[in-house]
Amino acid sequence: MRGARMLATLGPVADEVLVFSLPGLRPGDEAFSSVFGLPLDTPGVKLICREPHGDGGRSAFDHPLAVNFDETDALLVFDDVLVPWERVFIYNNVELANALYPRSNLRNHTAHQTSIRGLVKMQFAVGVAMAVADAVKIDGFLHIQQKLGECISNIELVKSAIVRAEVEHDKLQDGFVRANLSPLEALRGFLPFAYARAIEVLQVLGAGGLIMLPTAEDFGSEIAADVDRYYQGASGMRGLDRARLFKVAWDLAGDAFGTRQLQYERYYVGDPCASWPGRFLPTTAPSARN
Ligand SMILES: Cc1cc2nc3c(=O)[nH]c(=O)nc-3n(C[C@H](O)[C@H](O)[C@H](O)COP(=O)(O)OP(=O)(O)OC[C@H]3O[C@@H](n4cnc5c(N)ncnc54)[C@H](O)[C@@H]3O)c2cc1C
Repeated sequence: MRGARMLATLGPVADEVLVFSLPGLRPGDEAFSSVFGLPLDTPGVKLICREPHGDGGRSAFDHPLAVNFDETDALLVFDDVLVPWERVFIYNNVELANALYPRSNLRNHTAHQTSIRGLVKMQFAVGVAMAVADAVKIDGFLHIQQKLGECISNIELVKSAIVRAEVEHDKLQDGFVRANLSPLEALRGFLPFAYARAIEVLQVLGAGGLIMLPTAEDFGSEIAADVDRYYQGASGMRGLDRARLFKVAWDLAGDAFGTRQLQYERYYVGDPCASWPGRFLPTTAPSARN
């Protein structure tokens, strides 16, 4: 196997990789239709990692999400890698490769899992936005209530779609069930926009407070008294606690960590806009998944 795959989230910390294509291959795409699993320490496999967001030098106080929750990503390079036949599930067969996703119900199961993951991520982002609004006492303003209300409604829509997918599940001959795909596919299109909107609302509510933040050292320095006084929040919230909250908000809505999370929502399961077979990368499968 030779070429590169775009991109493997958590690849650098994984033991194995499963390589398969999204449906949509055409006759002539045989070279890109193989499906195989491989230990990542196989000779010839290389991982080119992106810059880490929590590089060990950043303080966990100043970047709580980046330091504690960075999911690293890597480009996977195959440098004439020998894949043993016992590790090959499909070889040079466009029809079988296209059938993998629908016939294994992988589409339903992954869509169910990623919808719940997306819901939890939305709840976290909107929860942080509500805490920020409360910390600086802006939650009484109508436009703030409208923005938070919009995000909370989106969360309820996501929940409803997931419940419908579960309630309208299909019972399969082998006794397994699969969630109804239609509401989950709707979430596939809705979540990237709803999550982006939640992040935009967090940016608007946090305003300059997201930028003008003291550092961890400041709280132990000769200006500590000023920091405690001028960074305190509403209703007696200590400056330290307000800074902690806004650091989480900044990592989510402004720092590289948060922007990567936004890009993830847009692209983690492939490009929703690109029609796969027309898009070829030299020596690699057009819509490889790993
Ligand atoms: C944070 C993150 C994590 C990811 N994790 C994984 C992972 O774990 N596993 C995995 O397999 N993939 C993962 N992906 C990769 C994802 O599969 C790709 O990003 C996605 O397939 C888009 O490809 P690309 O980034 O090369 O964009 P490009 O193909 O370079 O697209 C760039 C722009 O051009 C447009 N475009 C390109 N081709 C066409 C076309 N034919 N028709 C219309 N418009 C087109 C796109 O819509 C897009 O706007 C991840 C992506 C991100 C951002």
